[in-house]
Amino acid sequence: MLCWLSRLHAALSAPTGRIAHLRPSSLRRRLALSSQRRIPEFSSFVARTNTCGELRSSHLGQEVTLCGWIQYRRQNVFLVLRDSHGLIQVVIPQDESAASVKKILCEAPVESVVRVSGTVISRPPGQENPKMPTGEIEIKVKTAELLNACKKLPFEIKDFVKKTEALRLQYRYLDLRSFQMQYNLRLRSQMVMKMREYLCNLHGFVDVETPTLFKRTPGGAKEFVIPSREPGKFYCLPQSPQQFKQLLMVGGLDRYFQVARCYRDEGSRPDRQPEFTQIDIEMSFVDQTGIQSLIEGLLQYSWPSDKDPVVVPFPSMTFAEALASYGTDKPDTRFGMKIVDISNVFRNTEVGFLQDALSKPQGTVKAMCISEGAKYLKRKDIESIRKFAADHFNQEVLPIFLKANRNWNSPVAKSIMEEQRSGLTRLMEIQEDDVVLLTVGEHKKACSVLGKLRLECADLLEARGLVLRDPALFSFLWVVDFPLFLPKEENPEKLESAHHPFTAPHPSDVQLLYSEPEKVRSQHYDLVLNGNEIGGGSIRIHDAELQRYILAELLKEDVKLLSHLLQALEFGAPPHGGIALGLDRLICLVTGAPTIRDVIAFPKSFRGHDLMSNAPDSLPPEELKPYHIQVSWPADSEAEKSSLNQPYCPES
Ligand code: ASP
Repeated sequence: MLCWLSRLHAALSAPTGRIAHLRPSSLRRRLALSSQRRIPEFSSFVARTNTCGELRSSHLGQEVTLCGWIQYRRQNVFLVLRDSHGLIQVVIPQDESAASVKKILCEAPVESVVRVSGTVISRPPGQENPKMPTGEIEIKVKTAELLNACKKLPFEIKDFVKKTEALRLQYRYLDLRSFQMQYNLRLRSQMVMKMREYLCNLHGFVDVETPTLFKRTPGGAKEFVIPSREPGKFYCLPQSPQQFKQLLMVGGLDRYFQVARCYRDEGSRPDRQPEFTQIDIEMSFVDQTGIQSLIEGLLQYSWPSDKDPVVVPFPSMTFAEALASYGTDKPDTRFGMKIVDISNVFRNTEVGFLQDALSKPQGTVKAMCISEGAKYLKRKDIESIRKFAADHFNQEVLPIFLKANRNWNSPVAKSIMEEQRSGLTRLMEIQEDDVVLLTVGEHKKACSVLGKLRLECADLLEARGLVLRDPALFSFLWVVDFPLFLPKEENPEKLESAHHPFTAPHPSDVQLLYSEPEKVRSQHYDLVLNGNEIGGGSIRIHDAELQRYILAELLKEDVKLLSHLLQALEFGAPPHGGIALGLDRLICLVTGAPTIRDVIAFPKSFRGHDLMSNAPDSLPPEELKPYHIQVSWPADSEAEKSSLNQPYCPES
């Protein structure tokens, strides 16, 4: 086993790289802090002298007391003890006088928790285990105590033993004993600690807790509702501390941050949780570049030093460019395969469906080149990509294979004129063995489809052995200049905020608010890492009139719900802005965990359930009475109703 804890510790305690925009006084303070840093006392205040993972040859002869779980036992002679710091070999005494110690250590089932005391001795020559950080030594036990025996386990506590996620979540407290979960949660804790240090100690931020019992707010995600004892009155869990952090600015707390729990009732999505954590930040008297520099410095400072250092400043791309070249507002910039508008090449085409597409007012032809695609992708791969586009987007995609003999292999190859071929070759810089995927339609739709196919193709190419997305690479990107409003999905005639209703318009577009609001750009910025949105924020509206106009006239929201905020803006609200980083997603990417559930101690299942405790759970009618609530059971839920007093059966 790797000495992962010391690696993790070293990785996080060493000061990392440069810090953007450090003033000399903050640099002095930072240096003072780092010189005070030391390895924590892992055995203070507890009934052990050392951890299982820390003992080495330098401890030879020391009398130690260790506590841990029995990992395994060999021939009733050796026992390997584990705690969250590592493994150590314990020699079970064989002589008559130590019969009681032997009995305890030989009879206790695996994963029982024991305390042993004894001497650190070296292993006999030839019996060292170079794979174990403690492999040169062992413990000659004198006393042993069974602290708690372990019953038959639902699964073995070994990372390589495969188990379903449902079983892991049902017995989460056992799953947490795994190396991977220990690593993920400890790395998370260390990164958050460094973030606090950076924000509070180096940049004067104030950590303020905001309420989790709040009320419904207009716009944004669906909220969880909490009944109150007043008839017909409900709290809501906040989807984020957005309003509170803005009110803190009005209150003169000009640099706020919080490790904030947020709640969104958005149903099941693979990379979401109904409750999740944000590093939530707000500052007064700041502009977009100020927030961006702060976040770049924060990530650079808290980044584990065993990963490639974070290079700042992060590149930036407008929303329009991200959509046009990558078909999404969160481009994965670790690889190319950009989308190209090839409409002009085909203006005089004889290919019927291209002609059709270009004759429409918003018609475009878009293409994407899969470099060396003909070498790696089989026909059936391309067919599956085309089917994906047809099934999910009702969109036709045409492949063109470029052969060495310059013969184009495609259903439309014959109808593509020589001048169009050379135009396309020049524009897309295509070479032999490339595959071009071509589609038509309105700009946004055609780009979005190719954006999705770009990721599908990357998966396929990687499945065939090509490395497109280096797992050690962290590619940060700011996406800026979003539109302030987007057409509502369910009713495109109406507008909704692209970020949230408190986002300020771009200063040069303010006049458009009153004539063509859909054209207004905003001061909203998103932070993207390897194709995942890991943060977003904006400069806020601090003018009550403008805020009222946007809410009432453009978004058609009930301004009464926000009267407290509108009023606050009238009492000398400073200009302000902020951002929130999605901590779970960030840690998931840093650790390379397959899902965000692997970086959360007690996550909900895909369907939003806690499989360990069976939340959400039913309540008997008498317990609902004080809340003036009655359940109206759906017709087909007789079973659920009668399960009120049934034993719990977890999701499979
Ligand atoms: N509160 C916003 C969100 O949760 C972030 C921000 O604008 O600061 O997305």
